[in-house]
Amino acid sequence: MKKIIEILNTKKPSLSFEFFPPKTEQGFENLKATIAELVKLNPDFISCTYGAGGGNRDKTLDISQMIQDKHNVPALAHLTCVLNTQEQIRTIINDIKNRGIKNILALRGDNPIDQPDWQPGAENFYFAKDLCAFIQKNWGEYFGVGVAGFPEGHPRSPSLEKDAEFLKLKFDNGADFVITQLFLDNPDYFAYIERLKKTGVKAKVIPGILPITNYESLVKFCTKDKIHIPQKVKDIFEPIKDDAEATLQAGIKYAVEQCKDLLKNNAPGIHLYTLNKINPTKDIVEKLNFR
Ligand SMILES: Cc1cc2nc3c(=O)[nH]c(=O)nc-3n(C[C@H](O)[C@H](O)[C@H](O)COP(=O)(O)OP(=O)(O)OC[C@H]3O[C@@H](n4cnc5c(N)ncnc54)[C@H](O)[C@@H]3O)c2cc1C
Repeated sequence: MKKIIEILNTKKPSLSFEFFPPKTEQGFENLKATIAELVKLNPDFISCTYGAGGGNRDKTLDISQMIQDKHNVPALAHLTCVLNTQEQIRTIINDIKNRGIKNILALRGDNPIDQPDWQPGAENFYFAKDLCAFIQKNWGEYFGVGVAGFPEGHPRSPSLEKDAEFLKLKFDNGADFVITQLFLDNPDYFAYIERLKKTGVKAKVIPGILPITNYESLVKFCTKDKIHIPQKVKDIFEPIKDDAEATLQAGIKYAVEQCKDLLKNNAPGIHLYTLNKINPTKDIVEKLNFR
């Protein structure tokens, strides 16, 4: 399996999807069918998230392995430091390697809801940059390493400049590329790229795009994660928030326009947050006429 950075370096814009491990067996069966349908769109890689509590750790790896073994698409396994000791992380990474997975999205993760005050100790990692360093020190160049980026700054960052400096530390410690948090206004992404360049990060930053399918959920998520909702989004979606079909269609249109503008302005690819559903991801990719 290829490292994702090798794919990104081939210059064509990449297409990738994100899934999360379902909680039930039925959800897992549904996800298998969704993945089987979406791989027909020729994604360059597929990522699978990792739960804050670590409870679905094996599922993340099972799904990542299935994506590779069954569909021959490189998997990007998300991995968070939260709650895990360094030795537990070593075991997980060895498991990732033994399963033939070559790409890790190295994250700090958020504290689980039932342990909001958890603090790392000497046996844990503090930040994602420490996980990047650990991977580099112990596995050298074996893994491709992606990291999270926040065009509007991580909600706990003291400033946008500091946020960019913290991202640079992940690259100093071996990271290869970035996938961003969702954003709704492309100028936020373009400003982020400029800020990173000034800080010395010239890496590929893949925009993470969440198609809007439920306006109230979007507002809740954006409020929690301090993502601004531009007036144009409010104008489109607020009047139709109770009409699921109209929201879906408007969400597809908005995402297609957002992706087209990003690709026209040299974004290295598009990473779609699928929410484990075939649509609207399939519609969006087809409308983008991707390659
Ligand atoms: C693309 C993407 C995928 C994600 N996938 C998952 C997932 O699968 N599972 C999950 O639980 N969460 C996931 N998240 C959420 C992520 O774990 C949280 O946003 C988390 O709070 C930050 O993770 P990070 O890797 O950016 O952490 P870090 O880079 O460690 O940053 C965490 C905080 O610490 C600050 N910081 C960083 N370095 C320093 C330093 N040297 N000194 C002082 N402060 C510092 C940062 O500004 C930030 O506020 C994802 C986020 C994105 C964007």
